[in-house]
Amino acid sequence: MAEIGRSIVKMNVDELINLLNKALSDEWLAYYQYWIGAKVVKGPMKDAVISELDLHATEELTHAQLLVTRIIQLGGTPVLNPENWFKLTNCGYDAPEDPYVEEVLNQNIKGEQCAIRTYSKLMDLTKEADPVTHDIILQIITDEVEHEEDLVALKEDLDLMLLRRK
Ligand code: FE
Ligand code: FE
Ligand code: MG
Repeated sequence: MAEIGRSIVKMNVDELINLLNKALSDEWLAYYQYWIGAKVVKGPMKDAVISELDLHATEELTHAQLLVTRIIQLGGTPVLNPENWFKLTNCGYDAPEDPYVEEVLNQNIKGEQCAIRTYSKLMDLTKEADPVTHDIILQIITDEVEHEEDLVALKEDLDLMLLRRK
């Protein structure tokens, strides 16, 4: 364990590790929601939506990687059992039971908005106390803001297309 690295953290490290494990659980659930959504989605603009969902899935996996690296640096144990994802998650999981594009986009927009709120709180918490974690969270939240915007833009295009057809 990086003892000095851990000792410079000016907050309860176990509490921080728990929050990072909660975020890690969110990322895995977000990864699967995007990944499976890309497989089942149906409707207009399907190809553009699939590309974006697939890309976001890989980006959520990168977030999981960043979080797990930091948890281990801090001397923590990353969540080892997927069963615990549902116990720890902040943002939950929305199964794409209705595969229509708009519904899948709405579910993922909701997920991104929750992720942004979650990481925003973590930013506040780590700002003074742990600049290293703060920097990692900043990288992640920058992607989440982009994700929300990408999905909203797709939904706007979809709305415009459907409107023109009437
Ligand atoms: Fe993410
Ligand atoms: Fe995201
Ligand atoms: Mg994107």
